Amino acid sequence: MTEKKTYQWGTPRRFNSLSDHFRREFGGRVQKVSVNAGFSCPNRDGTKGTGGCIYCDSLAFSPSYCTPEKPVRMQIEQGIRFHRKRYRHADKFLAYFQSFTNTYADTEKLERLYDEALSVPGVIGLVIGTRPDCVDDNVLNLIARFAKNFYVVIEYGIESCYNRTLKKINRGHDFGTSADAIKKTAGLGIRTGGHIIFGLPDESREEMIAQAAILSELPLDNLKFHQLQVIKNTILSRQYNMSPRRFTLFTVEDYLEFLVEFVERLNPRMVIERFAGEVPLRFLERKGGWGLRSDQVLRMFEKKLEERDSWQGKNYLLS
Ligand code: SF4
Repeated sequence: MTEKKTYQWGTPRRFNSLSDHFRREFGGRVQKVSVNAGFSCPNRDGTKGTGGCIYCDSLAFSPSYCTPEKPVRMQIEQGIRFHRKRYRHADKFLAYFQSFTNTYADTEKLERLYDEALSVPGVIGLVIGTRPDCVDDNVLNLIARFAKNFYVVIEYGIESCYNRTLKKINRGHDFGTSADAIKKTAGLGIRTGGHIIFGLPDESREEMIAQAAILSELPLDNLKFHQLQVIKNTILSRQYNMSPRRFTLFTVEDYLEFLVEFVERLNPRMVIERFAGEVPLRFLERKGGWGLRSDQVLRMFEKKLEERDSWQGKNYLLS
């Protein structure tokens, strides 16, 4: 029998997966439990802007068990019960502050909420989703204190490495702000995550691919990738209907081909958490919905890597 090749992250999987990362760190499965702590967003409340990012419709992203009317503790306990029904052996959980901008409050409030989450039995850490322009020194120092004793990730919405794209999607910050926040966060010993969307207005395929080299140079630990999806009743859906050619709505096959090329150029040190979004079809404009769960896309992607004899970082040093 031929022995399976093992990659530098220590497994035969062809990319550096989150489950392998958790196995290395904690010896087994770790489940994220989403929390909606009722934060707002400076890009919606007028501090940075009012309309929000053109694709934003946060209602599409919250699981049913988490609504801000419930205390954080209750949301996490219910989330843990929900996950335990699916995975009976799940015993380690991360509180995932997911909705809106989860560092957008004074440090006392943040400390109280993060503390509350970490006090729930089984919770071993935090994942804090935020904008790169919403982490000042006080917030980062507070989170760094938690990171001394717990597993803590700050997950930044980077979305694109190109300032002209960030302007077009009304992010309200530039790429330099993302790069600075990521470097500062990593410098304080906090794990860093980044979120990127593929298909944003007027970005060519080559430009999207070239981001692999740019991101590879940052001290990012985790990455999440999403294909652009046009959610109903967003500014994006109006723009898309007016000039669809400005956007790339990948077919599944095109997206898999694209991902192979992208991931080959990506630093193999970085853990890839997610390759595709899975907004329910009822939220989407008819075009561009695949009707596939992200785990189904992942299986298809791994098959594609296998067929191509490709892997994460195969062309990292060439890019
Ligand atoms: S930063 Fe997030 S919550 Fe705020 S407008 Fe953009 S997508 Fe929506």
